[in-house]
Amino acid sequence: MSLLNDDRWFDGQRRVRLLSVVVSHNGFTADYAGATTGGREAWAAQQTRLMDDTYRASTWNKLGFDLANSVVVTVDLGAVTLGASGWSNDCTGNNYELAGLAAASVGAATYANIDAVLYFHPSAGTAPCGVSGQCALGVLQNISKATIAPQFLELDRSNFQWHAGCYVRSQLTTGDDLANIATHEFGHHLGLGHAAGNDDFGRWSGQGTFAEIGDTGSVMGKGGQTRNRFSAPSRHWLGVLHTTSLVQSDHVGVRLRALSLGPDPSGQAWLAMVLACPSCTPAFSPNAGTAVDLRMWIALDDGFACNQDYNAASNQLECRAGPVVTLRLAYTIPSSNFGPTTEKWYWLKDNETYAWPSGGKALAVCSINAAAGSADVAVAQSADDAMARCIASIPSPMTPPPPASPPASPGTPLGQDSGSESLNIGAIVGAVVGGVCGALFVILAYWVWRKRKRRVEVVDASIQKS
Ligand SMILES: [Zn+2]
Repeated sequence: MSLLNDDRWFDGQRRVRLLSVVVSHNGFTADYAGATTGGREAWAAQQTRLMDDTYRASTWNKLGFDLANSVVVTVDLGAVTLGASGWSNDCTGNNYELAGLAAASVGAATYANIDAVLYFHPSAGTAPCGVSGQCALGVLQNISKATIAPQFLELDRSNFQWHAGCYVRSQLTTGDDLANIATHEFGHHLGLGHAAGNDDFGRWSGQGTFAEIGDTGSVMGKGGQTRNRFSAPSRHWLGVLHTTSLVQSDHVGVRLRALSLGPDPSGQAWLAMVLACPSCTPAFSPNAGTAVDLRMWIALDDGFACNQDYNAASNQLECRAGPVVTLRLAYTIPSSNFGPTTEKWYWLKDNETYAWPSGGKALAVCSINAAAGSADVAVAQSADDAMARCIASIPSPMTPPPPASPPASPGTPLGQDSGSESLNIGAIVGAVVGGVCGALFVILAYWVWRKRKRRVEVVDASIQKS
């Protein structure tokens, strides 16, 4: 499965009509959502608004939630004997079982005008398992997008994902963490794998450890204390990042535009550089050896992302202030139903370079213009060559991009499938400047899953850590 040229792009906008089911059982309620039924339902509705905000912010308004037509209901299952219906009698099995019971109780399959379902479970209703939520994956892999309306959302309601696909069983209460878990789980619903990264620090300097969801700047990674965005390869998988916004040439200098700004109407900057990286080695086991279609993505992350780095002076992890150019490895795994898993390999500021561990390629960040939302970068065979290319081939000066278009305020209904949007792809196609056709990027990604009754994605334990 290729990450590019795979017809993922969709025209216009999509708004998901979400059915949120607040579950009670055996006297347990979703206390993290509130103390009363009304309070919990209001909280669940707010989660949808926050999810909508995050999705629209990361997709330049193309993908969000239909707030006017999303629904919140409560179901009290009463006395339930968990483990009696074939599920494994443990925390994750119990929670999938509860979701299935809740689906049957509320008649989820009868909600004809709903595109997806999300269940909120009591934390105390099952044994602790370090899981904040889970979601079965694979909605997108077999979709014939050209024949589905709305694209992305069609799902046979007998499908496992419809009646037990995604559940949340906890949520931190601090402001920026709200809806982080639901947003993450819904990313799995849309087929995204996990975003790995150095949960500690200094992966490539030999320090710390590489964690499955250790990318602190990605929705599909570790939520931490920030509301994150989707990485460039995730956006591409979601169908909102057109290949004409991507530079795929090697050994070039190129101007990148901040991801938050979206495609450049002036056609002078690219949103990401993507390079085949067949000799790259995913860092996260156990699936690293079977990964295919390895691609390095390079993009200018800005906004919400916490780009965690080790500060030797303080011996602490800190977020690197301001925008950084990130390198992420993205790949798929044979026989999996998932979209790209990513691994965040590095993040650079002005005048920093990074050489691929596999050798033969290096990235130089020539400069980052925070005010303009752009960064000039270059790729060559060595760090020195890449830096030399900064001088030789980066287009300059740059026309400042237009103001950011992303997110409307949370809760603003946008209507459904409203047709055209503002991306000026034609301009981007002609975006090569000064004969330079640069592009690089990197992205890392990664994930893990395991099987229960169906293939079920793993744990999101560490989302809640930090
Ligand atoms: Zn996850």
